[in-house]
Amino acid sequence: MRLAELTWKEVAEHLKKNKQLIVPIGTCEQHGPHLPLNTDILVAEKVAEFLSAETGILVAPTLNYGVNLPCDRGYAGTCSTTRELLRGFLGSILAWWKEQGFARFYLLSAHGDPHHIDALETIDPASVSALELYDFDMTAVLEKQQGPKHACEAETSVMLHLYAEKVRRSEMRDFEIPFEEFQPYLRHEKTEAIAGSPGNQGYPTYASAEKGEKIFALMKQQALAWMQKKGGN
Ligand SMILES: [Zn+2]
Repeated sequence: MRLAELTWKEVAEHLKKNKQLIVPIGTCEQHGPHLPLNTDILVAEKVAEFLSAETGILVAPTLNYGVNLPCDRGYAGTCSTTRELLRGFLGSILAWWKEQGFARFYLLSAHGDPHHIDALETIDPASVSALELYDFDMTAVLEKQQGPKHACEAETSVMLHLYAEKVRRSEMRDFEIPFEEFQPYLRHEKTEAIAGSPGNQGYPTYASAEKGEKIFALMKQQALAWMQKKGGN
């Protein structure tokens, strides 16, 4: 159930029974030559839809922007805000809802940039919880990677499962950079593009809809468990 599709009276009525809110957080970010810029938005919204159906908690309109690595600046269409602005902007929105009676917020992000996640986790830890959707053990499903990277075996699989028509299969390119070399980029210290990178990391050519179905099922399962734990019900 979507908050924005209700009238204010319907929201007020809903608030008498349920004071929780799911907020999908996206980002507008390049995902290699084979996935669209809204990949993280699409996945966060799918999980939000599932959680809402399971729990009856409303889903707020998605925030379509977030914090991206400075080294992605050269990939057309990608854009970013800063950690401080994301934290402040979201905090200001949640404050309105809080005044109206919403008491607990679940922020869902399929984008793992450390500054992005830090912004979400530090808004107000007492009422706001943030989940990084790909942050769980998927080694049993992956063949070529130890864990999720970027527009990789894992993320491309999820997209093949959910939105196969949006995946440009003929454009897929595998690209690997050792983690130690990637760390300064991840910490936003190195800002130039990674030499030779098509934008993605890891092995999209090993992706499949079958793997995506398994990863997505695990993602939904752990998101639901997380929500129940945070909500204390
Ligand atoms: Zn992504």
